[in-house]
Amino acid sequence: MDGNTPKNSQNSLYKLYKQRLIDASQLSELQPVAQQFGVAITTAMTGQADPADPDCPVAAQFVPDVRELTVLEQELHDPIGDHEHAPVKGIIHRYPDRVLLTPVYVCPVYCRFCFRREDVGSEPMLSDEELEAALDYIRNDEGIWEVILSGGDPLILSPRRLQNILKKLREIGHVKIIRIHTRVPVVKPGAITAELVTILRAANPVYIVIHTNHAQEFGEAAEDACAALADAGLPLLSQSVLLKGVNNDAKTLESLMRKLVENRIRPYYLHHADQARGTSHFRTTIREGLELTTALRGRLSGLCQPQYVLDIPGGHGKSPLSADWLTETAPGNWEVRDFRGNSHPFVDKDAKNATCAVTGDSDAE
Ligand SMILES: *Cc1c(COP(=O)(O)O)cnc(C)c1O
Ligand code: SF4
Repeated sequence: MDGNTPKNSQNSLYKLYKQRLIDASQLSELQPVAQQFGVAITTAMTGQADPADPDCPVAAQFVPDVRELTVLEQELHDPIGDHEHAPVKGIIHRYPDRVLLTPVYVCPVYCRFCFRREDVGSEPMLSDEELEAALDYIRNDEGIWEVILSGGDPLILSPRRLQNILKKLREIGHVKIIRIHTRVPVVKPGAITAELVTILRAANPVYIVIHTNHAQEFGEAAEDACAALADAGLPLLSQSVLLKGVNNDAKTLESLMRKLVENRIRPYYLHHADQARGTSHFRTTIREGLELTTALRGRLSGLCQPQYVLDIPGGHGKSPLSADWLTETAPGNWEVRDFRGNSHPFVDKDAKNATCAVTGDSDAE
């Protein structure tokens, strides 16, 4: 498997040119971008992009842009503090009950807004020894209930290598849940073969979280790939990034969420875009994100509601961002806002005799 060497990025620029997604002048203008950040796009995604649309939401995600050379003061090499939480290579351990295992650093596409853009593509994958050391770390911590395969994109590993990793994880008694973060079912649906589905299914419970940001990414092959995974009993969730110029309006987000649910993918997270270097042209404000997610409440089934989250810079983890649905006016007296924006009083009569049970955990400090 190849990393995103400058040569591979050059080839990808040429592919974009052949597909008329960039013109001849951009071919040279974008060289310095391709030197810094990997460039890759799949045939499925060039197929969904529209060269005639200067604002194509698919092209915008994968076609490099000279604006990536503009780095703002608040932008970071490691925007969500992964490095501080990497006890061994290939593991990011931020929360007590779950770890990220990153067996591969390559992706089939390189998203221009990627929060891990300075790590992905830097080397192809963990060596056998590094993988074994990462697995040992998981074996030695009984508090790890869930392992999230991330990267890079774990579904571009060869089926045999993936099977080997899943088997080893399944041999660890305290690891109950395996989760896979991937873009492959949508951006490279041909890789979701019957063999791969069988391998994933054998490792159940496996949750698949698909990264996708616009309904236009879904071609027929992507829908078939998602159906194959869902038919195998693999629960499908989504994560999307709120991106200026791609999906930052209520109608576009509505179509995306409906498309997901129609494909049996339950919307999970809508990420506020991270402060990765050279990505300011993609970021919205939090205020805009709150207005959009509030608008979704008024437009869409509860099945279609993602949770809007911020990964706090510095490695403090993800926090839900939510518009104020609730105000306490006096103890037990609330004003609750409905999806139309109207307020309603709610008197919580149960509050009178209640004791708070939140800290009922036996290990609570
Ligand atoms: C995002 C992330 C997770 C997963 O968080 P959830 O809220 O459970 O989806 C786990 N570990 C790390 C290091 C993460 O960045
Ligand atoms: S698929 Fe994920 S890790 Fe890979 S480039 Fe896109 S955002 Fe980054």
